[in-house]
Amino acid sequence: EKFKDGLAKTRSNFSDKVNDLVSRYRKVDEDFFEELEEILIGADVGFETVMELIDELKSEVKKRNIQDPREVQAVISEKLVAIYQGGEEETSAINVQQDGLTVILFVGVNGVGKTTTIGKLAHRYKAEGKKVVLAAGDTFRAGAIEQLEVWGERAGVDVIKQGAGSDPAAVMYDAVQAAKSRNADILLCDTAGRLQNKVNLMNELEKVKRVIEREVPGAPHEVLLVLDATTGQNALIQAKTFKEATNVSGIVLTKLDGTAKGGIVLAIRKELQIPVKLVGLGEKMDDLQNFDAEKYVYGLFS
Ligand code: GDP
Repeated sequence: EKFKDGLAKTRSNFSDKVNDLVSRYRKVDEDFFEELEEILIGADVGFETVMELIDELKSEVKKRNIQDPREVQAVISEKLVAIYQGGEEETSAINVQQDGLTVILFVGVNGVGKTTTIGKLAHRYKAEGKKVVLAAGDTFRAGAIEQLEVWGERAGVDVIKQGAGSDPAAVMYDAVQAAKSRNADILLCDTAGRLQNKVNLMNELEKVKRVIEREVPGAPHEVLLVLDATTGQNALIQAKTFKEATNVSGIVLTKLDGTAKGGIVLAIRKELQIPVKLVGLGEKMDDLQNFDAEKYVYGLFS
Protein backbone atom coordinates (compact mmCIF):
# COMPACT_ATOMS: atom_id res chain seq x y z
CA GLU A 1 0.00 0.00 0.00
CA LYS A 2 2.79 2.39 0.97
CA PHE A 3 4.51 1.58 -2.27
CA LYS A 4 1.35 2.33 -4.24
CA ASP A 5 0.71 5.62 -2.48
CA GLY A 6 4.28 6.73 -2.99
CA LEU A 7 4.00 6.06 -6.70
CA ALA A 8 0.73 7.94 -7.12
CA LYS A 9 2.25 10.71 -9.24
CA THR A 10 4.07 8.38 -11.57
CA ARG A 11 1.10 6.09 -11.75
CA SER A 12 -1.28 8.82 -12.83
CA ASN A 13 1.22 10.19 -15.34
CA PHE A 14 2.09 6.83 -16.78
CA SER A 15 -0.92 4.59 -16.51
CA ASP A 16 -3.44 7.29 -17.40
CA LYS A 17 -1.54 7.92 -20.61
CA VAL A 18 -1.24 4.23 -21.42
CA ASN A 19 -4.93 3.68 -20.67
CA ASP A 20 -5.81 6.56 -22.92
CA LEU A 21 -3.55 5.19 -25.64
CA VAL A 22 -5.01 1.69 -25.64
CA SER A 23 -8.53 3.02 -25.69
CA ARG A 24 -7.92 5.29 -28.67
CA TYR A 25 -6.37 2.69 -30.95
CA ARG A 26 -8.31 0.00 -32.79
CA LYS A 27 -5.25 -1.96 -33.74
CA VAL A 28 -1.63 -2.31 -32.73
CA ASP A 29 0.33 -0.51 -35.42
CA GLU A 30 3.47 1.61 -35.87
CA ASP A 31 1.71 4.77 -34.64
CA PHE A 32 0.63 2.95 -31.52
CA PHE A 33 4.20 1.95 -30.74
CA GLU A 34 5.47 5.42 -31.48
CA GLU A 35 3.07 6.97 -29.00
CA LEU A 36 3.91 4.37 -26.42
CA GLU A 37 7.58 5.15 -26.92
CA GLU A 38 6.92 8.82 -26.21
CA ILE A 39 5.01 8.07 -23.02
CA LEU A 40 7.82 5.89 -21.73
CA ILE A 41 10.54 8.39 -22.59
CA GLY A 42 8.42 11.08 -20.91
CA ALA A 43 8.37 9.01 -17.72
CA ASP A 44 12.19 8.88 -17.70
CA VAL A 45 12.29 5.15 -18.31
CA GLY A 46 15.47 5.76 -20.30
CA PHE A 47 16.17 5.50 -24.00
CA GLU A 48 17.90 2.12 -23.94
CA THR A 49 15.20 0.49 -21.86
CA VAL A 50 12.45 1.96 -24.01
CA MET A 51 14.04 0.72 -27.22
CA GLU A 52 14.50 -2.73 -25.82
CA LEU A 53 10.95 -2.78 -24.52
CA ILE A 54 9.44 -1.65 -27.82
CA ASP A 55 11.42 -4.29 -29.71
CA GLU A 56 10.31 -7.00 -27.34
CA LEU A 57 6.72 -5.83 -27.47
CA LYS A 58 6.70 -5.86 -31.24
CA SER A 59 7.97 -9.40 -31.44
CA GLU A 60 5.62 -10.56 -28.72
CA VAL A 61 2.65 -8.96 -30.46
CA LYS A 62 3.62 -10.75 -33.64
CA LYS A 63 4.22 -14.07 -31.93
CA ARG A 64 0.96 -14.05 -30.01
CA ASN A 65 -0.87 -12.41 -32.91
CA ILE A 66 -2.24 -9.68 -30.64
CA GLN A 67 -4.69 -7.37 -32.39
CA ASP A 68 -6.32 -5.62 -29.47
CA PRO A 69 -4.25 -2.75 -28.00
CA ARG A 70 -5.68 -3.49 -24.57
CA GLU A 71 -3.89 -6.81 -24.57
CA VAL A 72 -0.55 -5.06 -25.02
CA GLN A 73 -0.91 -3.44 -21.63
CA ALA A 74 -0.33 -6.65 -19.70
CA VAL A 75 2.66 -7.50 -21.88
CA ILE A 76 4.24 -4.12 -21.08
CA SER A 77 4.44 -4.92 -17.35
CA GLU A 78 5.66 -8.42 -17.98
CA LYS A 79 8.44 -7.23 -20.29
CA LEU A 80 9.44 -4.29 -18.10
CA VAL A 81 9.98 -6.60 -15.14
CA ALA A 82 11.96 -9.00 -17.31
CA ILE A 83 14.14 -6.23 -18.72
CA TYR A 84 14.73 -4.83 -15.25
CA GLN A 85 15.75 -8.16 -13.85
CA GLY A 86 17.94 -8.91 -16.84
CA GLY A 87 17.25 -12.62 -16.62
CA GLU A 88 18.77 -12.98 -13.17
CA GLU A 89 17.01 -13.31 -9.89
CA GLU A 90 18.21 -10.20 -8.18
CA THR A 91 17.82 -9.43 -4.55
CA SER A 92 17.45 -5.96 -3.16
CA ALA A 93 18.32 -7.22 0.31
CA ILE A 94 20.93 -5.26 2.21
CA ASN A 95 23.98 -7.36 3.02
CA VAL A 96 23.63 -7.57 6.80
CA GLN A 97 26.01 -9.90 8.63
CA GLN A 98 24.58 -12.63 10.84
CA ASP A 99 27.31 -12.12 13.39
CA GLY A 100 29.44 -9.13 14.12
CA LEU A 101 29.35 -5.60 12.88
CA THR A 102 27.81 -4.62 9.54
CA VAL A 103 29.13 -1.35 8.13
CA ILE A 104 27.13 0.53 5.51
CA LEU A 105 28.61 3.56 3.79
CA PHE A 106 26.32 6.16 2.24
CA VAL A 107 27.51 8.35 -0.61
CA GLY A 108 25.77 10.95 -2.75
CA VAL A 109 25.62 14.70 -3.34
CA ASN A 110 24.08 17.17 -0.89
CA GLY A 111 20.33 17.33 -0.70
CA VAL A 112 19.58 13.93 -2.21
CA GLY A 113 18.31 12.55 1.11
CA LYS A 114 21.35 10.80 2.55
CA THR A 115 20.81 11.86 6.15
CA THR A 116 17.11 11.14 5.96
CA THR A 117 17.75 7.67 4.55
CA ILE A 118 20.26 6.90 7.31
CA GLY A 119 17.67 8.01 9.88
CA LYS A 120 14.98 5.84 8.31
CA LEU A 121 17.26 2.83 8.16
CA ALA A 122 18.42 3.36 11.75
CA HIS A 123 14.77 3.30 12.76
CA ARG A 124 14.16 0.11 10.80
CA TYR A 125 17.09 -1.80 12.30
CA LYS A 126 16.37 -0.53 15.78
CA ALA A 127 12.80 -1.78 15.44
CA GLU A 128 14.24 -5.16 14.47
CA GLY A 129 16.05 -5.20 17.80
CA LYS A 130 19.49 -4.38 16.44
CA LYS A 131 21.98 -2.05 18.04
CA VAL A 132 22.68 0.79 15.64
CA VAL A 133 25.38 3.47 15.63
CA LEU A 134 25.59 6.43 13.22
CA ALA A 135 28.84 8.05 12.03
CA ALA A 136 28.67 11.76 11.24
CA GLY A 137 31.13 11.61 8.37
CA ASP A 138 29.82 14.67 6.55
CA THR A 139 32.02 17.18 8.32
CA PHE A 140 31.88 19.56 5.37
CA ARG A 141 28.28 20.68 4.88
CA ALA A 142 27.06 23.19 7.45
CA GLY A 143 24.45 21.62 9.69
CA ALA A 144 25.02 18.06 8.50
CA ILE A 145 26.24 16.81 11.88
CA GLU A 146 23.36 18.40 13.79
CA GLN A 147 20.87 17.01 11.31
CA LEU A 148 22.20 13.51 11.79
CA GLU A 149 21.96 13.99 15.55
CA VAL A 150 18.30 14.92 15.20
CA TRP A 151 17.69 11.69 13.30
CA GLY A 152 19.72 9.75 15.85
CA GLU A 153 17.52 11.11 18.62
CA ARG A 154 14.37 10.34 16.71
CA ALA A 155 15.44 6.78 16.06
CA GLY A 156 16.93 6.39 19.52
CA VAL A 157 20.46 5.50 18.40
CA ASP A 158 23.95 6.86 19.18
CA VAL A 159 25.74 9.27 16.86
CA ILE A 160 29.53 9.44 16.77
CA LYS A 161 30.82 12.84 15.69
CA GLN A 162 33.64 15.31 15.81
CA GLY A 163 33.57 19.03 15.13
CA ALA A 164 32.69 20.61 11.79
CA GLY A 165 35.61 20.54 9.39
CA SER A 166 37.32 17.61 11.06
CA ASP A 167 38.84 14.72 9.12
CA PRO A 168 36.08 12.31 8.03
CA ALA A 169 38.51 9.37 8.20
CA ALA A 170 39.18 10.19 11.86
CA VAL A 171 35.44 10.29 12.51
CA MET A 172 35.11 6.86 10.90
CA TYR A 173 37.91 5.48 13.02
CA ASP A 174 36.17 6.75 16.18
CA ALA A 175 32.83 5.45 15.01
CA VAL A 176 34.16 1.97 14.30
CA GLN A 177 35.83 1.79 17.72
CA ALA A 178 32.65 3.00 19.41
CA ALA A 179 30.51 0.54 17.46
CA LYS A 180 32.82 -2.30 18.44
CA SER A 181 33.02 -1.40 22.10
CA ARG A 182 29.25 -0.97 22.30
CA ASN A 183 28.74 -4.31 20.56
CA ALA A 184 26.72 -2.68 17.80
CA ASP A 185 25.21 -4.71 14.97
CA ILE A 186 24.99 -1.93 12.41
CA LEU A 187 27.12 1.13 11.71
CA LEU A 188 25.60 3.58 9.23
CA CYS A 189 28.15 6.08 7.89
CA ASP A 190 27.31 9.47 6.42
CA THR A 191 29.82 11.11 4.06
CA ALA A 192 30.24 14.51 2.46
CA GLY A 193 28.71 14.95 -0.96
CA ARG A 194 30.61 17.60 -2.80
CA LEU A 195 30.91 16.78 -6.43
CA GLN A 196 32.55 20.02 -7.50
CA ASN A 197 35.96 18.50 -7.10
CA LYS A 198 36.03 14.92 -8.24
CA VAL A 199 39.60 14.30 -7.16
CA ASN A 200 38.85 15.45 -3.61
CA LEU A 201 35.73 13.38 -3.51
CA MET A 202 37.60 10.27 -4.62
CA ASN A 203 40.42 10.84 -2.15
CA GLU A 204 38.06 11.41 0.72
CA LEU A 205 35.90 8.37 -0.02
CA GLU A 206 39.00 6.28 -0.55
CA LYS A 207 40.44 7.33 2.78
CA VAL A 208 37.21 6.73 4.65
CA LYS A 209 36.84 3.34 3.05
CA ARG A 210 40.39 2.37 3.85
CA VAL A 211 39.85 3.05 7.56
CA ILE A 212 36.70 0.94 7.55
CA GLU A 213 38.39 -1.88 5.63
CA ARG A 214 41.33 -1.91 8.00
CA GLU A 215 39.26 -1.82 11.19
CA VAL A 216 36.50 -4.24 10.20
CA PRO A 217 37.48 -7.19 8.00
CA GLY A 218 35.07 -7.57 5.09
CA ALA A 219 33.64 -4.07 5.53
CA PRO A 220 32.10 -1.93 4.18
CA HIS A 221 29.38 -4.49 3.53
CA GLU A 222 27.47 -2.07 1.36
CA VAL A 223 28.29 1.21 -0.33
CA LEU A 224 24.91 2.74 -1.07
CA LEU A 225 24.68 5.60 -3.52
CA VAL A 226 21.74 7.87 -2.72
CA LEU A 227 20.06 9.52 -5.72
CA ASP A 228 17.15 11.94 -5.90
CA ALA A 229 14.50 10.65 -8.32
CA THR A 230 13.17 14.16 -8.97
CA THR A 231 16.45 15.15 -10.63
CA GLY A 232 15.84 12.72 -13.46
CA GLN A 233 18.69 12.36 -15.91
CA ASN A 234 20.93 14.38 -13.60
CA ALA A 235 20.80 11.53 -11.13
CA LEU A 236 22.29 9.31 -13.79
CA ILE A 237 25.16 11.70 -14.38
CA GLN A 238 25.90 11.86 -10.64
CA ALA A 239 25.78 8.11 -10.45
CA LYS A 240 28.39 7.77 -13.17
CA THR A 241 30.76 10.06 -11.27
CA PHE A 242 30.34 8.15 -8.01
CA LYS A 243 30.71 4.86 -9.77
CA GLU A 244 34.12 6.04 -10.95
CA ALA A 245 35.06 7.25 -7.46
CA THR A 246 34.13 4.16 -5.49
CA ASN A 247 32.62 0.67 -5.64
CA VAL A 248 28.91 1.24 -5.34
CA SER A 249 27.00 -1.88 -4.32
CA GLY A 250 23.49 -0.52 -4.43
CA ILE A 251 21.30 2.49 -5.12
CA VAL A 252 18.87 4.23 -2.81
CA LEU A 253 16.42 6.21 -4.91
CA THR A 254 14.74 8.89 -2.80
CA LYS A 255 11.75 11.18 -3.38
CA LEU A 256 10.02 8.76 -5.70
CA ASP A 257 6.83 10.18 -4.18
CA GLY A 258 7.75 13.60 -5.53
CA THR A 259 8.02 12.78 -9.20
CA ALA A 260 5.71 11.72 -12.01
CA LYS A 261 8.76 10.32 -13.78
CA GLY A 262 9.40 7.29 -11.64
CA GLY A 263 10.59 5.43 -14.72
CA ILE A 264 14.03 6.66 -13.69
CA VAL A 265 14.30 3.55 -11.50
CA LEU A 266 14.42 1.42 -14.62
CA ALA A 267 16.87 3.70 -16.40
CA ILE A 268 19.24 3.67 -13.45
CA ARG A 269 19.24 -0.09 -13.21
CA LYS A 270 19.74 -0.51 -16.91
CA GLU A 271 22.43 2.06 -17.48
CA LEU A 272 24.46 1.59 -14.31
CA GLN A 273 24.13 -2.15 -13.79
CA ILE A 274 23.76 -1.51 -10.07
CA PRO A 275 20.70 -2.83 -8.23
CA VAL A 276 18.23 -0.37 -6.72
CA LYS A 277 17.99 -1.63 -3.14
CA LEU A 278 15.86 0.93 -1.36
CA VAL A 279 13.40 3.60 -2.37
CA GLY A 280 12.33 6.69 -0.43
CA LEU A 281 8.62 7.43 -0.63
CA GLY A 282 8.30 10.35 1.76
CA GLU A 283 9.94 12.36 4.52
CA LYS A 284 8.82 10.31 7.48
CA MET A 285 10.69 7.66 9.41
CA ASP A 286 8.85 4.72 7.88
CA ASP A 287 8.80 6.03 4.30
CA LEU A 288 11.56 3.71 3.16
CA GLN A 289 10.93 0.48 1.27
CA ASN A 290 12.99 -2.33 -0.14
CA PHE A 291 12.79 -2.11 -3.88
CA ASP A 292 10.86 -4.86 -5.61
CA ALA A 293 10.72 -4.63 -9.41
CA GLU A 294 7.51 -6.60 -9.75
CA LYS A 295 5.66 -4.66 -7.09
CA TYR A 296 6.93 -1.48 -8.64
CA VAL A 297 6.00 -2.15 -12.25
CA TYR A 298 2.63 -3.74 -11.46
CA GLY A 299 1.99 -0.90 -9.01
CA LEU A 300 2.18 1.52 -11.92
CA PHE A 301 -0.86 -0.01 -13.57
CA SER A 302 -3.07 -0.89 -10.64
P1 GDP B 1 21.33 15.04 2.35
O1 GDP B 1 21.91 16.41 2.13
O2 GDP B 1 21.67 14.12 1.23
O3 GDP B 1 21.68 14.46 3.68
O4 GDP B 1 19.74 15.21 2.26
P2 GDP B 1 18.65 15.27 3.42
O5 GDP B 1 18.53 13.95 4.08
O6 GDP B 1 18.91 16.45 4.26
O7 GDP B 1 17.31 15.48 2.58
C1 GDP B 1 17.06 16.66 1.82
C2 GDP B 1 15.55 16.91 1.79
O8 GDP B 1 14.90 15.86 1.09
C3 GDP B 1 14.91 16.95 3.16
O9 GDP B 1 13.97 18.00 3.17
C4 GDP B 1 14.18 15.60 3.27
O10 GDP B 1 13.06 15.66 4.10
C5 GDP B 1 13.82 15.34 1.84
N1 GDP B 1 13.67 13.90 1.55
C6 GDP B 1 14.56 12.91 1.75
N2 GDP B 1 14.09 11.72 1.30
C7 GDP B 1 12.84 11.96 0.82
C8 GDP B 1 11.81 11.14 0.21
O11 GDP B 1 11.94 9.93 0.00
N3 GDP B 1 10.67 11.78 -0.18
C9 GDP B 1 10.49 13.11 0.01
N4 GDP B 1 9.34 13.65 -0.40
N5 GDP B 1 11.42 13.91 0.57
C10 GDP B 1 12.57 13.34 0.99
